[in-house]
Amino acid sequence: MTKPTYRGRFAPSPTGELHLGTLLAAVGSYLQARSQHGKWLMRIEDVDTTRRVEGSSDALLRALESFGFEWDGAEVYQSQRTELYEAVLATLTNKELIYPCTCSRKQLADQGEAQVYAGHCRHRQLPLREEHALRIRVANQSVGFDDLVMGLYQQQLASECGDFVIKRRDGLYAYQLAVVVDDAEQGITEVVRGTDLLDSTPRQIYLQQQLSYAQPGYLHLPLLIDEHGHKLGKSTGAAALDLTHPVQHLHSSLELLGQQPPGELARDSLSQLWQWAINHWDIDCIPKQSLVIRQH
Ligand code: GLU
Ligand code: ZN
Repeated sequence: MTKPTYRGRFAPSPTGELHLGTLLAAVGSYLQARSQHGKWLMRIEDVDTTRRVEGSSDALLRALESFGFEWDGAEVYQSQRTELYEAVLATLTNKELIYPCTCSRKQLADQGEAQVYAGHCRHRQLPLREEHALRIRVANQSVGFDDLVMGLYQQQLASECGDFVIKRRDGLYAYQLAVVVDDAEQGITEVVRGTDLLDSTPRQIYLQQQLSYAQPGYLHLPLLIDEHGHKLGKSTGAAALDLTHPVQHLHSSLELLGQQPPGELARDSLSQLWQWAINHWDIDCIPKQSLVIRQH
């Protein structure tokens, strides 16, 4: 049997401008796909319409273009795929894996269930109603996978996560469901993204198993932290990248990913730098520990 063509993707949430962390994930997933002559798809993860910032999808796509990224086919928007998620929810419901949860955020906190849901509503047999969140039952089993950078990662879903939400009380589908459906539907063979999603992966694999989807490979890139050890992100006010110097930013991203691009390439053209990066991409050089970024 021949190996299926590599299909990777980049799946940004359009919640603001392009930051270094987003760029790093884009660079890593792009190089992993292009170095294997694979496809690289673009998916805008705007399923959480409450967090959507007007115009930011377009701004993000234009910013990525200015870095020279080229994606295959048209970009896909999660906000336009509700029917797909609905159909999958019906499948899970038919398998009796879904139940409504009426717990408020405060109740969850009081029950100590903010992190791990101990199953307060699991046996209450509440009718499925619009205004309730829906959770999926997890089995008391360990779900593990071998990450290409981070190595073996395992979770006992029942004790470390609990039954998780796949449709929110406000009617929006949860990221965990949408990402699994989209990765399968787009035929993604490998997921490359930031380590902040490492602990979501067992939930996603569990969903793939329940839906009889093929399991993609996983590669998680190191997290960016500031000098105080805090995760660098939009919430911590990480600076938006200055789009007038794409070559320098791409050069630093490659360095952060352990790729050691020659210094003179920082003054060369974007296409020369990409060419070098695609030819020399080596995942064995990617650091596992978090990367400290000093913000001026
Ligand atoms: N949309 C997610 C984010 O921007 C990434 C999801 C994924 O790559 O699976 O953090
Ligand atoms: Zn509940």
